[in-house]
Amino acid sequence: MKTFCGRANPTTGSMEWLEEGEDYDYHQEIARSRYADMLHDKDRNVKYYQGIRAAVSRVKERGEKAIVLDIGTGTGLLSMMAASAGADFCYAIEVFKPMANAAVKIVEKNGFSDKIKVINKHSTEVTVGSDGDMQCRANILVTELFDTELIGEGALPTYEHAHKYLVQEGCEAVPHRATVYVQLVESRRMWSWKKLFPIHVEAEDGEKILVPPSEMEDCPGVPSVCDIQLNQMPSSDFSTLSDVVTMFSVDFSKPVQSASAYYRVQLKPVKSGKAQIVLSWWDIDMDPSGMINCTMAPYWVKPTSALQWRDHWMQCVYFLPREEPVLQGEKLYLTACRDEYSVWYTLQKAREGENKADEEEHEADVRVESPVCRCRAHLLWNRARFGELNDQNRTHQYIKSLRKVLKADSVCLCISDGSLLPVLAHYLGAKQVQCMQPSRIDLYHPHELQQAFFKANHLEDKIKIIEARPELLKPSHLEDKKISVLVGEPFFTTSLLPWHNLYFWYARTAVSPHLASNVTVLPQSASLHMMIVEFQDLWRIRSPCGTCEGFDVQTMDDMIKDSLNFRESKEAEPHPLWEYPCKSLSDPQEVLTFDFTTTVPQHCLSTEGSVKLLRKGKSHGAVLWMEYHLAADISVSTGLMQLSNEKGNCEWNPHCKQAVYFFSSVIESEILSDPTAVTYAINFDTKTGEIAMDFKL
Ligand code: SAH
Repeated sequence: MKTFCGRANPTTGSMEWLEEGEDYDYHQEIARSRYADMLHDKDRNVKYYQGIRAAVSRVKERGEKAIVLDIGTGTGLLSMMAASAGADFCYAIEVFKPMANAAVKIVEKNGFSDKIKVINKHSTEVTVGSDGDMQCRANILVTELFDTELIGEGALPTYEHAHKYLVQEGCEAVPHRATVYVQLVESRRMWSWKKLFPIHVEAEDGEKILVPPSEMEDCPGVPSVCDIQLNQMPSSDFSTLSDVVTMFSVDFSKPVQSASAYYRVQLKPVKSGKAQIVLSWWDIDMDPSGMINCTMAPYWVKPTSALQWRDHWMQCVYFLPREEPVLQGEKLYLTACRDEYSVWYTLQKAREGENKADEEEHEADVRVESPVCRCRAHLLWNRARFGELNDQNRTHQYIKSLRKVLKADSVCLCISDGSLLPVLAHYLGAKQVQCMQPSRIDLYHPHELQQAFFKANHLEDKIKIIEARPELLKPSHLEDKKISVLVGEPFFTTSLLPWHNLYFWYARTAVSPHLASNVTVLPQSASLHMMIVEFQDLWRIRSPCGTCEGFDVQTMDDMIKDSLNFRESKEAEPHPLWEYPCKSLSDPQEVLTFDFTTTVPQHCLSTEGSVKLLRKGKSHGAVLWMEYHLAADISVSTGLMQLSNEKGNCEWNPHCKQAVYFFSSVIESEILSDPTAVTYAINFDTKTGEIAMDFKL
């Protein structure tokens, strides 16, 4: 069987469908999966084990046989815990075939084949009866089907079905219950991920304020969850307006309903401010008493929470439909609405002198439809892109550079997706401004969004949108003029890795015939930078586990390793490093440069060299990022922003993902007088736009 995988081609900026063998999907799934992270999550594993032991004991005390149903068994871990705890029999259900096969092997290796039956089915396909998958209904229900939003992986419909068809009434459930908590906050930083703030530009003829279109002002955004490592958000970046409030909980030992529902709580702000964001996380009680609790509470709620790092469960940021000024002590209602798979929030003020009847009226109008983006920006730009466009420092660098290069007779073409550069160029005095958004996701009509922007700022006649692709540009698009200033951020929505934005170079090459002989290209060049790092925690997602709570899970380690090596050369992966602290072990090093004043060469660009490890630590991998040299002495970095020299702590650009290349083995550098060196070979293939790399420790 062949599968087709959509991937952006960094040399054309457009999506292409590549035919891949049947193994491709499976290897991707395994290599990028969170199984390793879960197996490294000691806190989770210990608490599941305690909860499972307690549940098996309760059933045994009642004099019953302990029959376990483990939905989504993965490696078989929770079933093996149950069998070790004395369960009489376990049905381990796993829908993903390669995992079900792995579970069979792992169960056998650990000697539980007679107690655990692995069933490769979706739980809703499982049958019960003398000739069914299960002989009888189970009296212990064990699952781990939760994502950061709790219900996003379909836990509710799975539980609903299991209670109807697969488990006995009054069964024991591990976990027993989940509770969702919320806290109302004001945060300019997080709000900047959803809203575009006005941009102030000191223009030739006075200050201009670039405003977003009105549809964007009150657009509810998109329902997809924003999950982040909230423990990396410094307390100076938000202000809590309410106490932590319990929003809703689900008892997994009783029938569960997955149909849409809403929950409402009363809130009294502890502080006046602008309500913008609802922060949310959950905890699970493994037993009915609540003594075995596993929580995702952030550091200011539970100071020890940073001790248990995990990436498979984080915290959620929900954006209120609009900003609401609130007063300390006033009465508010916060409503959580959910469907089967996602949650969203609205905030309402209690009306003056409200009585019971009014309250009921409130109840009626709290059921709010799931957010649907009306302005298109939330469909075209992700949260990081909003943050980037709102980054005043960054905008300032572009303004400064544009000022340097623009002249009154400049004919300017901007090539970038959803960029504000054309507007800046116009304000700063360019005579003629045109723009192109080449990596088009036509479904969402990016040109209409751009048009709405120009309209909102009365610029629709001033800036021309060229709908052609760079290679199809004609003199008539440019009113028969040559381009004197070519600009790009560069930013393209289809880019995954930092160097994919080099598409700007390819587009620049394609429009070459239209460039004036003395054209200025901004940025004039780009460079690829690299640094060797020790991660505080991120290393866990790629590190073998060996044994987990005494169970041998090496089969899983081997499987992951196999999938990571599936492609001949290992690939770098994108990670937003502001969420994943690391320490630099080497100096940052410029490894390749890309000269935008000339066209993309035919030959590959490659480099070899070595980096010295200057600090003590474990070399987990290399981080790579791009820097753009906008004009003389003005650069922007999409990676490292600052490096504190004593400890090697790094500050990363908070709006970009950096490329991480994990080394297959880790070296520990100890002796600083005779530093160890890591040698590298890096190759930019100009035919594919991809970078391959190899490191030797
Ligand atoms: N129980 C393991 C793995 C948890 S990951 C552990 O705790 O370590 C969740 C697994 O559940 C995934 O492997 C996924 O494929 C599987 N899964 C999710 N929903 C399922 C369902 N309804 N039926 C069967 N498998 C399911």
